Amino acid sequence: MVKTPITVAYGDGIGPEIMTATLDIFDAAGAQLEIETIEIGEKVYLRGGSSGIEADAWESLRRTKVFLKAPITTPQGGGFKSLNVTTRKALGLYANVRPAVSYAPFVETKHPLMNVVIVRENEEDLYAGIEHRQTQDVYQCLKVVSRPGTEKIVRYAFEYARSNGRKKVTCFVKDNIMKFTDGLFTKVFEEIGVEYPEIEKEHWIVDIGAAKLADNPSQFDVIVMPNLYGDILSDVAAQISGSVGLAGSANIGEQCAMFEAIHGSAPRRAGQNLANPSGLLLGAVMMLQHIGQPDVATKVHNAWLKTLEDGIHTYDIYREGTSKEKVGTKEFAQAVIARLGQTPQTLPAVEYKETQALKVEAKPSIDQKKELVGVDIFVNWKDGAPKDLGSVLETFTSSKLGLKVITNRGVKVFPDGFPETFCTDHWRCRFLTTDGSPINHGQIIDLYTQMTNAGYDCIKTENLYTFDGVAGYSAVHG
Ligand code: NAD
Repeated sequence: MVKTPITVAYGDGIGPEIMTATLDIFDAAGAQLEIETIEIGEKVYLRGGSSGIEADAWESLRRTKVFLKAPITTPQGGGFKSLNVTTRKALGLYANVRPAVSYAPFVETKHPLMNVVIVRENEEDLYAGIEHRQTQDVYQCLKVVSRPGTEKIVRYAFEYARSNGRKKVTCFVKDNIMKFTDGLFTKVFEEIGVEYPEIEKEHWIVDIGAAKLADNPSQFDVIVMPNLYGDILSDVAAQISGSVGLAGSANIGEQCAMFEAIHGSAPRRAGQNLANPSGLLLGAVMMLQHIGQPDVATKVHNAWLKTLEDGIHTYDIYREGTSKEKVGTKEFAQAVIARLGQTPQTLPAVEYKETQALKVEAKPSIDQKKELVGVDIFVNWKDGAPKDLGSVLETFTSSKLGLKVITNRGVKVFPDGFPETFCTDHWRCRFLTTDGSPINHGQIIDLYTQMTNAGYDCIKTENLYTFDGVAGYSAVHG
């Protein structure tokens, strides 16, 4: 059998121990891999590479297109960018697939019937990494959600459900509050869902959805969600299934894929032969399936299930009475190796089949008529009450463009604000035309110039557009 080239990073903290355990098991199971090892993470950060990865590592990844990655440590503090986020975005790994399964009665859990797959959007949302400090007191992080990005992840979730015999896809969003970004996610979910009539669809606001997931996960099957909710809730899902150390993940792109554990580098457990290698192992099993070695994937997964069944457990899942033997990382790997070729007796055995990679595409977008109708000018100001600012800004106009409303942290404070509303030094001043007619950029520049000439510290502008006559900006609270 031809060996498949893959790129491997041993990572930081518990990374090297769990990667060695995983590769030892693969070796014994007969996985056909040609491994290129790269160094990423802490050592690279500490020798000055702010992204935690260097040019030759990128070359390897772009050559093999398959990355098996142990967790890495992102040093605390400014200046260091998360390598995980960078890798996912640079390689276009838009879908993060995170199964969370319980293994009762062998691994203690309150949820013996749990078998949930979280499909997390992987490139957008608050992970765009666009953050600014705009005033002394106010910081901002931009939540970016695109229609093509959303179409791809939602379609991936439905295709995943269809090809894996899953019956239901649920969408978690906060579209009652974020009507544009999460609202788009819901809209796309509803549009695309129609194309999958055999699959049950449901939609929950993420807060109650998360509560239901934590309380009764067996009511869910596949859950698709934006990046941040998926990040948080996949850890919750893994932990309530038995341990965060049990869940693996596949990061899928059109050309490349990355496989990893969902947990981090657990630095406090490092170097003590303690960590559970299962999360990385199951991520790596997804890799074997992806690169067309389903037989080896089946063999490893079943041997691993048998090991759990035999009560051979690392510290995180070891429970007196349920478990038989508490083992370290190396001994756990040896126990799996000793069971290669065996299948579990009680837990359902798995059987991976040769499958085609799921291909999803976003539809070309339909051109809409985009008209500039106003501007939000943000001002750093702390010289009085809202009416002091409003009464001056009302005197600045450009053609029909004039002050409509001022908000502070999103709440209307002028005109007719409440004295109880707490105000910071960050004011959003909305200028619109009196009759809704379109404006041009020159009018915005004119207004901006009037304000800066009068001594106002304008910190940013946000253009207000309509698309086919529908406002492309949120209404004001209050
Ligand atoms: P963590 O996931 O590393 O650890 C959280 C808790 O889970 C700890 O109590 C740890 O002991 C336990 N745990 C995690 N993995 C385990 C395993 N395999 N076996 C047994 N117990 C395990 O989260 P953290 O402490 O918040 O983060 C540590 C570092 O990892 C940070 O630098 C963070 O940036 C990084 N991180 C990396 C990744 C990644 O590389 N994909 C993901 C998350 C966090």
